[in-house]
Amino acid sequence: MTYQPQPQASHFIDGAYVEDTAGAPIPVIFAADGEEIARLHAGTPAIVDRAITAAQAAQKDWAKWSPRERGRVLTRAAQIIRERNEDLSQLETLDTGKPIQETTVADATSAADALEYFGGLAATLTGEHIPLGEDWVYTIREPLGVCVGIGAWNYPTQIACWKAAPALACGNAMVFKPSEMTPLCALKVAEILIEAGLPKGVFNVVQGMGETGAALVADPRVAKVSLTGSVPTGQKVYAAAAAGMKHVTMEMGGKSPMIVFDDADIDNAVGGAINGNFYSTGQVCSNGTRVFVQRSVRDAFLDRLTERLKGAVIGDPREPETNIGPMVSERQMQIVLGYIEKGKAEGATLVAGGNRLNRPGFFVEPTVFADVTDTMTIAREEIFGPVMSVLDFDDEDEAIARANDTQFGLSAGVFTRDLSRAHRVIGALEAGSCFINSYNDAPVEAPFGGVKMSGVGRENSRAAIEHYSQMKSVYVRMGDVEAPF
Ligand code: NDP
Repeated sequence: MTYQPQPQASHFIDGAYVEDTAGAPIPVIFAADGEEIARLHAGTPAIVDRAITAAQAAQKDWAKWSPRERGRVLTRAAQIIRERNEDLSQLETLDTGKPIQETTVADATSAADALEYFGGLAATLTGEHIPLGEDWVYTIREPLGVCVGIGAWNYPTQIACWKAAPALACGNAMVFKPSEMTPLCALKVAEILIEAGLPKGVFNVVQGMGETGAALVADPRVAKVSLTGSVPTGQKVYAAAAAGMKHVTMEMGGKSPMIVFDDADIDNAVGGAINGNFYSTGQVCSNGTRVFVQRSVRDAFLDRLTERLKGAVIGDPREPETNIGPMVSERQMQIVLGYIEKGKAEGATLVAGGNRLNRPGFFVEPTVFADVTDTMTIAREEIFGPVMSVLDFDDEDEAIARANDTQFGLSAGVFTRDLSRAHRVIGALEAGSCFINSYNDAPVEAPFGGVKMSGVGRENSRAAIEHYSQMKSVYVRMGDVEAPF
């Protein structure tokens, strides 16, 4: 790889890189070998203030641009991102440890999709006219103001753009805080947006840990917070936002069910389970980590799965043939290994994997447990690693009841050739983003988000517009005003 990852500085504020070495150091570790590849600094209170001040000042003018002109900037940024996909994918791989064969097709490209989609949508966002006889009401869709985006570490480029694209299309400004694990990619997004013609201050990046995020959320000048992260963080951020009556979008974790009926195409179901458990080394919020397989096809499913797992290439994520890279960090690897030990201790049958690789970096084998029961820890808690739990079931009602027996509700999938059953089961599952005979597709055209503890609001699609704008209604009286005195 030729990409030089060392960023020019830690933060990007008011159209330029900004450094403040008074902030706590943030070492950026390449997960495939444990080496430090860059060193940044967390935002101090002065940096947080500077970013919000810049965003607030820039937003007022940005909101006055015609929506079509705003959209044009976003589509131009999408085009630049596509032209630089190779460099950006390499950076994403260094930032996260995800295989280059994934980052080339799923990260910068997904970011470009979001910028293109919301860039195109910008000019179509209108209010409405509501006739009331002689009088009428009209509505104006207005931006919220300064929005804060806070990201998880699994999709740093995509998360930045899934939040920034609808926010900016609606005329808001954004201060984005990446995860401290993966701080590099959002800086590139900021650079590219400026190159595409975005006025300075409209999109800013501030690095930091949880406390920097908390400072951004608490600032009274902030109107909205969109967080991608874990449930405990979501609860804290939601509560802090509530204190200021701020808008929120909460994209939290999951423990999603994938139900494989006995009439399913087994190879497709196995493919869905592989995509829904091992893509990005299992670090995907919507993963179908509870795979319910109807008892009569359980052995056929496991045989095919273990056979296909033998073809998985685990190793250096920079190599084009690598399918499975390391976990993002040593800490995350230890968490995953801890869950694997719990699975064994609680009586699940280890069918594949289960070990750390004997090499530098944070590698865990793709792991499959069979004979998992609903009460086992690995079936109840989000692991966020390459660990699949296979559970047996007998009939449809049982599968639905057990699939819904969780605090989470992000995703759900069904594999069956019986399409009436597919729609019936999906209709009964408590989840926001669902799949029939597929798993984990997330096109920008489709709303994305969860129910129950998995979140509030939706990203992507026209639905995201509702979360980055508000309606002003204007009553227009044509006649005289009647008053009691
Ligand atoms: P965390 O919840 O630990 O962190 C998420 C972000 O919030 C980070 O940038 C973190 O900073 C920041 N943060 C932490 N505490 C606070 C606080 N009190 N106030 C404001 N911000 C704070 O999640 P992870 O980064 O570990 O990501 C994994 C989680 O994200 C999983 O649960 C996963 O399911 C979920 N996720 C959900 C997705 C969805 O769309 N539904 C997509 C991807 C992941 P820092 O970490 O730098 O300290």
